[in-house]
Parts: sequence; structure tokens; C-alpha cells
Amino acid sequence: MSGWRDNLLKVEPYVPGDQPNEPDMIKLNTNENPFPPAPGVKKVLEDMKYDRLRLYPPTDAGRLTDSLARAYNIDRDRIFVGVGSDDVLGMAFLACFAGKKEILFPDITYSFYSVWADLFKIPYKRPALDENFRIKKEDYYAPNGGVVIANPNAPTSLAMPLGDIEDIIRHNPDSVVIVDEAYIDFGGESARPLLEKYDNLLVVQTFSKSRSMAGMRIGFALGSKELIKEIYSVRNSYNSYTMSMVSILCGAAAVDDDAYFKKTVSEVVGIRNYTRSRLLELGYDVLESATNFLFVEHPEISAKDIFEKLKKKHIYVRYFNAPRINNRIRMSMGTKEEMDKVLLEFERIAKGE
Ligand code: PMP
Repeated sequence: MSGWRDNLLKVEPYVPGDQPNEPDMIKLNTNENPFPPAPGVKKVLEDMKYDRLRLYPPTDAGRLTDSLARAYNIDRDRIFVGVGSDDVLGMAFLACFAGKKEILFPDITYSFYSVWADLFKIPYKRPALDENFRIKKEDYYAPNGGVVIANPNAPTSLAMPLGDIEDIIRHNPDSVVIVDEAYIDFGGESARPLLEKYDNLLVVQTFSKSRSMAGMRIGFALGSKELIKEIYSVRNSYNSYTMSMVSILCGAAAVDDDAYFKKTVSEVVGIRNYTRSRLLELGYDVLESATNFLFVEHPEISAKDIFEKLKKKHIYVRYFNAPRINNRIRMSMGTKEEMDKVLLEFERIAKGE
């Protein structure tokens, strides 16, 4: 190859889970929420004055930022809003990891971190999780250009105690520490209270899981004024109008309905605990989950086999063909009815049928 091809960036992209669309499928492969968004979101869509779309949206996500500020009791200039937490994390990597030193994140974690690091030419090192898939906090005390911890971690589903997160932040006064809390509402303890103590902490959350709005694409970060200003500066150097008026108004309606949020989250947690205990009874090994998914292994049946057998029944789960995790499948929680059907298949598979 030569000529113009020499000028291409040629990156290795992140590979998201498939988005199959079959009428009878049970889709448990991308950690979506089985319940619809809050009823207020429907109302916003129905009542939306379409003429409003003539105008550009507010660049600071307007009413959505107001709602988040109220809900999390934090100043609005300490909130960054983006197009899903992928956008928020990407912008944060670009804004906060511009030093020369390696940034640190675990070897087994959200696989997008290394993709952004490669894209932005950020050097990185990936300390190994221990043999129980736990993060070893001491690994993050080494000199570094930044730290990223998913808490709870994915795809392991394990949460780290808040005290350990704080130890990591305390040992890194010269780095930005990003805590990716995509799944925090289903278990684990948020690092939000630590924001008052540490101006180098960035807590990132999403509407895709606990707020049932993966299709709307909303994520946000909470941090010090200085950090948030910097991330907005980077975002505004690329695209100042990322949040559509539709997502701003729908997002605000979702945040404003705290009762619905708590109810659906607790239902998902109940389904997760039920599914996990049934799988354990059937002889599967399932890590203790603080998320809306389970990380499942069978002592004798390969994960690839389980994946293929489920797929034949139109049950979609996620299988990662990667070192140390290629004998587990990651399965999001569906409704109770869906999980009962899925558990029946797990029972058949365990019996060798
Ligand atoms: N962080 C983690 C750990 C995730 O699993 C995901 C979901 N793929 C994301 C961030 C991004 O989610 P979203 O862009 O939908 O907010």
C-alpha cells in the first residue's frame, strides 16, 4: 500500500456486543435494562414541540444539568454531560491524560480504555487483577500519568470497597483518577462523597444501565470545577453541540423521577440475586455481582459451548475470547420471566442436553 493510505490513522476499534433484532430473542449481551425508561420520558417525547428542533441546544445540557445538580446536590459547574459515558470517558482521557507518563488500568476491565489510549497516543500499563479477579490497589501506587478504575468492574461484576478507592486516590495527588461508575447504582458505594476532598477525582456515570436509556446516549462526569472546565474546553475544541434537545429533556425527566429509578433498580437487583442463586444451585460458578450482569462459568462445560447453545435458543449473552476470561460468559439481567426461560436452558446445558 502507498500514497493516501499511508496517511490513514489505522486504529483498532472497540468492538461492541452484537445488536441482533429478532422478535423472539432474549437479549442479554450489552447490559441494557429490561424495564422501559421513566414514564416522564414518554411524556416529554409525546409533548415535544418539534419546532424547538430549529434551534441549537444549550451547550451545557441546560435542564439536564440542572436536574443532575439537584439530584446529586452538586454545583452545576462541577458536572460534564456527554453522549453516553463513552463520550464522557473519551473526552476525559483526552483532557486529563496529556502527560508523558503511563496511565494505569487493570488488565481485565472495560476494553474501551485501551482503545482510547491508543487513539490518543496515551501510554498505558495494565496491572493484572489477582486470581480472584480483584483489583490490587497497591498496583496503582506506582508513579503514573493517570488512573482509571471501573467500579464495579466489568466484565467481572465485582465492586471494590470505597476505602480502597480512596486509598488509590490518596496515593495519586499528581494524577487524575477516573472512577467509571457505569454500574454503581446496582451495588457498590459511589465515590461521589470523595469529590469534596479530592480535586483530582472524576466520577463518571451513565443513563444506559440504571436509567434504562442506552438508546438515548447520555453520560455525565462529576468533578472539581477546574477538571470539568478543562473537559468542556476539550469538548468545545471538537464539537460544542453534542447533546440534542431531545436527550436533554428526556434525561432531565428521567432524573426527576427518583421513585421510578429506585423501584426499577431494586427489581433488577432482585432478579440478579435470584438468577445467581439458581445458577449456583445448578452447579455454575458465578462471581458475586454488584452490577446488572453476572459473570458465569461451568466447571466442565466451556463458555464457548454455553454461548453457542444459548444462541441457538435466541438467547444472546457476551463471550470474550480473551486470556483469563475465555471460560466465562457475561449475562445481563432481563425480566424475571426472561430469566426463568434462560435458567431452564442453563439447567439443560448443565445436564448435558
Ligand atoms: N463503562 C463501562 C464499564 C461500561 O460497561 C459501559 C457500557 N458499554 C460504558 C462505560 C459505556 O456506556 P455508555 O456509553 O452507554 O454510557
